[in-house]
Amino acid sequence: MNPEVSKFDWPDALALGPVTVLTGLEKGKYPHGNSLIVTGDDDVVLIDPSLTVAERGVPVEVNKIFLSHVHEDHIPGMQQLPELPVFCHEEDAVGLSSLDGLMSMYGLPDLVEKNFRREVVNDFHYSPRTNVSTFTDGSSFDLGGVQIQVIHTPGHTKGHSAFLIPEARTAYLGDIELSGFGPYYFDACSSLESFEWSLDRCSDLEAEHFVTFHHKWVISGRDHFLAMLNEFANVITKRELALLRFLKEPRSISDCVAHRFVYRPSVDMQFVDHVETSCAKLHIARMVKDGRVTEVTNGKYRAT
Ligand SMILES: [Zn+2]
Repeated sequence: MNPEVSKFDWPDALALGPVTVLTGLEKGKYPHGNSLIVTGDDDVVLIDPSLTVAERGVPVEVNKIFLSHVHEDHIPGMQQLPELPVFCHEEDAVGLSSLDGLMSMYGLPDLVEKNFRREVVNDFHYSPRTNVSTFTDGSSFDLGGVQIQVIHTPGHTKGHSAFLIPEARTAYLGDIELSGFGPYYFDACSSLESFEWSLDRCSDLEAEHFVTFHHKWVISGRDHFLAMLNEFANVITKRELALLRFLKEPRSISDCVAHRFVYRPSVDMQFVDHVETSCAKLHIARMVKDGRVTEVTNGKYRAT
């Protein structure tokens, strides 16, 4: 199946048989993203309604919303469809129940959270949903001649899930976004080990087209996808080895935060220190456990 220009009235929309990619602004660069429409004979599902969908509207009548996970940038377009049933993994449903529930998934420091709450409501149109159903790994939905299969891929969030649409030979990867930035596993509900397990799991996905929510967009060809997946996974190893080299001298978590292992030093955003702290703690804990690092004195760590 070859990608085609979609019949939907949407700039840069791409059709993959029963799947249409609603390409977001700048190919889905954050805060935007690439949403999907999956059309069966009985149901039409909108996956991850992006900020671009919130701004442009939905180009076709849909009757269900599916979410790869609950994060601010994957839900803004839901405001266009306030009555529609929403489906997400059971582990992420807390994020749709209330703003407090959503904030509990991030686990941000107080001051950062205060500003982020405002942003989520004002810029990402957050409001709680009541008509929520949950799925689990292996759930399968028949839209009438077209299936959506749920593949639980935790790590980014606890409930993060990929969707396989066999009739379109297409897998939707959500925030396993294959960018050079690498995997993001720094929220309260994230897990480094689960993310690694999920990346391994993605290498078994039987598809020809792989759609990411952000700017890598649509990757066609399984070998091309596997090479990108491998490079994406390698970012985790590179972060860990860079940290290990830095720990040749005894260093504290704050030293690691100041040095930066996730963001470049030039990046000036309010949540950077939080992310760097989380990264340093996660990788140091793992290296202490496997003996590559020891705590030498009062919160200082050194490579063994
Ligand atoms: Zn996300």
